[in-house]
Amino acid sequence: MNWWWLGLTVRSNYLPDNTPEFAQAASAAMAFSTANQVKVLSYTGRLDKGEIVALGHRLGVPWQLLWSCYQAGENMCGRCESCRRFIRAFQAQGLAIPGLIQRGE
Ligand SMILES: [Zn+2]
Repeated sequence: MNWWWLGLTVRSNYLPDNTPEFAQAASAAMAFSTANQVKVLSYTGRLDKGEIVALGHRLGVPWQLLWSCYQAGENMCGRCESCRRFIRAFQAQGLAIPGLIQRGE
């Protein structure tokens, strides 16, 4: 069994690809199209971004390795909607924005 993990969030579920239904449909497509029965799962589908950041902080997530920006480049732009949501999630938790504008490679 192989797994493909999605970072679904509860408040972004107005986006079709950010829903449990999408994860189920993707799992069905993977089961149909692969020999190894890849299953698409998410631990975060019931959490908002602030809760995900708080959980990640408790778990010691290496945030500098995250790429959350819609733009390509050396660094995250810090201006697109994805960057702004990420920044707001850290601010809502009272946490410093760790290397947000630096891409970990
Ligand atoms: Zn960005």
